[in-house]
Amino acid sequence: MKAYTEYLYFTTRQKQEFINITDQVNGALKKSGIQEGLCLVNPMHITASVFINDDEGGLHEDFTLWLEKLAPFGKDKYRHNLTGEDNGDAHLKRTIMGREVVVAVTGGKLDFGPWEQIFYGEFDGQRKKRVLVKIIGE
Ligand code: ZN
Repeated sequence: MKAYTEYLYFTTRQKQEFINITDQVNGALKKSGIQEGLCLVNPMHITASVFINDDEGGLHEDFTLWLEKLAPFGKDKYRHNLTGEDNGDAHLKRTIMGREVVVAVTGGKLDFGPWEQIFYGEFDGQRKKRVLVKIIGE
């Protein structure tokens, strides 16, 4: 069995942002040379998500509005922020949107369903963050 590890880095301009990282994950898969196996992608931070969905018009704005209803940004809204932090909302948003994705690798390609693409979801950005891509197989 082969294993391949790569780290992707993101520093978003906005506090909250969604980035399509499908091409970068595909790039890592090509470099790995793995034909059959599994590809894990996860942010190494507790205020960011990696998730799979469509890259359709309006969808990211819908996610943003929905998350803001569930966990609105606000320093005085969360017990976590009593520690002096202001990212209580970002921890909750990350939990809702998920920690990681695992995609099957078949014939050297990410074996997606129709329209599936991989996104990095940043909820407390404007600083350097790291995403792990780990591919195992043969
Ligand atoms: Zn925090």
